[in-house]
Amino acid sequence: MRVRDRPLPADGTMRGPRFGRSFRGGAAQASLGQLRRGDSIEVAWPPSWTCLAAVARSRGLPAKPSEPGLAAVTLLHSLGSIDEVGWLLHPPLIDLLYRLGERSGMSWWKKRWTHTHKQLRALGVDNVDNAVLEQAARDLGRDDPAIAPAGEGRDLAFAEFRTALGGDAEAASRWVQWAERRHLLVRGAPVECTAGGARSWLPMGALPPPVVCAGCGREIDQPFPPSGLSFTYRLGEPLRRVLETDSLGHLLAVRWFTELFGNRKLSARSSISMSRLRACWVVQAPSGLVVVPRM
Ligand SMILES: [Zn+2]
Repeated sequence: MRVRDRPLPADGTMRGPRFGRSFRGGAAQASLGQLRRGDSIEVAWPPSWTCLAAVARSRGLPAKPSEPGLAAVTLLHSLGSIDEVGWLLHPPLIDLLYRLGERSGMSWWKKRWTHTHKQLRALGVDNVDNAVLEQAARDLGRDDPAIAPAGEGRDLAFAEFRTALGGDAEAASRWVQWAERRHLLVRGAPVECTAGGARSWLPMGALPPPVVCAGCGREIDQPFPPSGLSFTYRLGEPLRRVLETDSLGHLLAVRWFTELFGNRKLSARSSISMSRLRACWVVQAPSGLVVVPRM
């Protein structure tokens, strides 16, 4: 028995009695000897993760979910379907999202580091091995993730999205609404304390007065300007985690594989790559998709 769109790897570990039934050559096998007419038989189809773990185990390797993988799956849940990843396939938009997630002052920090490095050289640290300096840079956190922790990223106005989408206000409006609905973006507004001047950013849910200042803890009298409230956007947590773990590429690749192995007609360019990729299985499960090398 085979299930369309739910392929199984032809793998030794999958054949064992552990799953109650035998899975051989990508199909489930069940004995029908005891069955009478009209009886039904239940076969539990192994989830994609079980298949992946089985293939890895046959080769003496353990398979564990990675942090970037989990982040990508969480974002995929927010998106609802792998097809939705298509909304992110626009390089200027991806750049904008990274800018949105960047720890403010990160570029300042990198520039500062380069400057210090030059100064050390000028002071005669020439005889210090380059590898030693490089190690010191890493130990001091030069390469720490540039993505800010939750709640500390930048907030950007709608106009930035319009620019990223080539100045098309309607497209930007549709994109921002799509992203907000899927928790990729959070809408809010900057607030300034009338007493101490402390600035903070509040999500929509926290905007109705009374608004409390994050700096002094007192209630802000008239927190919003009389000219109107200008919304800005911050990264939603599922997308922030994907940028932090650098796993956006995973999702773009999975979407590409899905198109490649899906029912859609392949373009000439995809067909050329197909021969190179024949060594993979794409296993789909409620928890997402995995690409498994076919042995
Ligand atoms: Zn204050």
